[in-house]
This record gives sequence, C-alpha cells and structure tokens, in this order.
Amino acid sequence: MKRLLLATRNKGKLREIQALLSDIGVEVVSLDDYPAIPEIPEEGRTFAENAIFKASEVARLTGEITLADDSGLDVDALGGEPGVHSARFAGEPKNDEANNTKLIALLEDVPPAHRTARFRCVIALVTPDREVHTAEGACEGVIMLKPRGDNGFGYDPLFYVPEYDQTFAELPMDIKNRISHRGQALAKVKDLVRQVLT
Ligand code: IMP
Repeated sequence: MKRLLLATRNKGKLREIQALLSDIGVEVVSLDDYPAIPEIPEEGRTFAENAIFKASEVARLTGEITLADDSGLDVDALGGEPGVHSARFAGEPKNDEANNTKLIALLEDVPPAHRTARFRCVIALVTPDREVHTAEGACEGVIMLKPRGDNGFGYDPLFYVPEYDQTFAELPMDIKNRISHRGQALAKVKDLVRQVLT
C-alpha cells in the first residue's frame, strides 16, 4: 500500500484524515514515524502560509509525499482570534482544556447570537515532483459556554452546529468529517492524492 505522510503529531487530525482517505487505499502515517524531526514552527500569518511551510519542510526532510493541515477557529466576537494561534491560545505547552477554558472566559458575557465562529482548514500537498497544492474548507457554528460531548479533539466540545443541534464532539466522526473544514478541504485534493499515489 502507498504511504502518505501527514506533517503532524496531532492524533485527532491523524484519525480524521485516515478515515477521510480510507476509501482510496492509502496508508496515512504521522510524524510519530519520525521521532527525530523537531516541532515545525508555525509562525505564518495565515493558515495557508503555515500549511505550505509544514508540508514543504517535512517533505524536504523525509523525501516522502507529504500532506499538512493547518487549521483553527475564527471567533467573530474576538476579531477572528484564536485563528492561527488556536493550538497555543492559552500559551505553552499546547493544551486543549486550557484553550477551551480561556475561550469560555472571554465569551462569558457575549450573547449566543454574537458567539458565531467558523473552523477553517488549509491542506497543503507536496507531490513527488515537489509541487505544492493547497485547498481550503470552512464550517460555521456557534461557541457554547459549556462543553458537550466526548468525541473529536481541541475545541470540538464547544463548537455547536445548529443544523445538527449537536457539538462537533457529540457528532459521530463520519458526520463531522462530512461537514467539517477538514473534510471539505481534503475532498478538494483527494483526486490529486489518488493520482500521485498510483
Ligand atoms: P495547528 O493546525 O497544528 O496549528 O493546530 C490547529 C488547532 O486548531 C488545534 O490544536 C485545535 O486547537 C484547533 N482545531 C483545528 N481543527 C479542529 C477541529 O476539527 N476540532 C477542534 N479543534 C480544532
């Protein structure tokens, strides 16, 4: 089976991307296969800059066909924050629970109608000829002040999707993958992934 290296150590992203690509017969591995590769800095101003940098660096260091996902949460009442700072919103080291606690505290006095937000994702794929292809996706929702659900990762327990009356952490993974920022971005590069791996 052909391999695709995912430039991350985030187990939540890995699980979702493995499921999203399960129908094209590809083995998706993560940077856990490369313990010596240090954390790739994410200093770009946009998801696209970070995704392209992560994919290119990891492809250069490993010689593998590499896919990177840079994603985060844009909250309208916070002027788009945490955005590209989503993973480390509450500081170092990265901690999902601390990030969620900080988000709740900042939105405590904001009425639900103004707690609109969207997850955004940019996928970058480095092909064997070293070209970089990108695709993006977004998913709209509302931030809750009490976590709900045990699935997923990151901000999922606070991200409520009105259409399903459930948070991302309450939705089964196949439904989250169908509507999520990541699912939408990946759908746009899937044909290319299939092509470069056959
Ligand atoms: P990065 O792309 O590695 O910079 O990290 C993205 C961060 O955004 C994650 O650590 C999460 O905090 C958040 N995030 C991105 N996608 C999701 C998602 O699907 N659910 C919940 N949180 C997410």
